Amino acid sequence: MSVDAAVDQTAPVIPVTRLDQADPALLEELLAVVERVARQGAFTMGTELEAFEDEFATYCGSPHAVGVSSGTEAISLALRAMDIGPGDEVIVPSNSFIATAEAVSWVGATPKLVDVDPHSHLLTAEAVADAIGPLTRCVIPVHLMGSTVDLDPILALAREKNLRVIEDTAQAHGAFHKDRRVGSMGDFGCFSFYPTKNLGGWGDGGAVVTGDEQLAAKVRLLRSHGESPRYHHKIVGTTARLDALQAALLRVKLGRLDARNDDRRRLGAALRAGLAGTAVQLPAPAFEGADHVYHLFIVRSADRDALRTHLERHGVSTAVHYPFPIHRTDAYGAAPEGSLPVSEQLAREICTLPLFPTMSDLEVERIITAVASFEPGE
Ligand SMILES: *Cc1c(COP(=O)(O)O)cnc(C)c1O
Repeated sequence: MSVDAAVDQTAPVIPVTRLDQADPALLEELLAVVERVARQGAFTMGTELEAFEDEFATYCGSPHAVGVSSGTEAISLALRAMDIGPGDEVIVPSNSFIATAEAVSWVGATPKLVDVDPHSHLLTAEAVADAIGPLTRCVIPVHLMGSTVDLDPILALAREKNLRVIEDTAQAHGAFHKDRRVGSMGDFGCFSFYPTKNLGGWGDGGAVVTGDEQLAAKVRLLRSHGESPRYHHKIVGTTARLDALQAALLRVKLGRLDARNDDRRRLGAALRAGLAGTAVQLPAPAFEGADHVYHLFIVRSADRDALRTHLERHGVSTAVHYPFPIHRTDAYGAAPEGSLPVSEQLAREICTLPLFPTMSDLEVERIITAVASFEPGE
């Protein structure tokens, strides 16, 4: 019997992710929120935004949260609030979404792209220590995939070298780092509420959290024309607010975030257990007991493209986050191969499997069975 004969052609394809329409009760609740905000006709700033900011700050265990228009803006505004710009260098892992570096470039500073740990796929204090130079002002650890970076040695190094720390928490809303939520330990935590994220709105959105009242106030000014009060423009700012509609939707979804992250942790653990002993490799936690909220479930195979074709044939969708490390993109000069070898090898070998909170046990089983029947070189 050929492998294909064993494939159930009638089973529906499992997508990489599913959004709110997969949860009919939630969808009804969110549609009612849209109607409420539309009838109020209050679309920018106002009480929904303020309430969300209070609730999100409390959730993150951080004194201040400021809603902004995207995760990329969150990082840019955090940098600008700390007066980081032209002439300054910011250390960024090359194995991340390009936005982490773009936000740095957007304020006129230079991202110093560095390699990551081959086991955790994340930034380490050693890589930061090697990259620090006279112009370095800041480092941006990225809790990529929902997997938490080993922050303590990075925070200690930053204190010693007088560097600022921005946690890129766009993929890790609600994850714990030891006994604190991610985002609450750096000078800033920067979140994205892009629809697919663990906490996602119905469009673009983001937030910064910070323990520093002055920095929070500066981001508030910057995101809305430096204005406070109305028509008193204190500094040159921009339009980078979180819409009231997004804030109202996110308030509902924030109330479910811990339960949804628990679903992701449970599904992630089931996939890890089921995939042990198969032909794919799994990333390791950055430190003993590190939390993982599985924004993305990533595996590695030296024969990645064949793995993807095989899974597609078995009704399992896949993706690659990300096929090019940032230093190899055209935007960042398409550096020659070999400069950051771990990030480059990961980009060749990583494959994102489906994982979303409404995934069923049957879907988990189908994914495991499909991967288990993969033979590299097939
Ligand atoms: C999504 C993401 C961002 C950017 O967020 P946007 O809201 O899309 O601007 C930044 N960093 C990482 C790691 C991300 O995954």
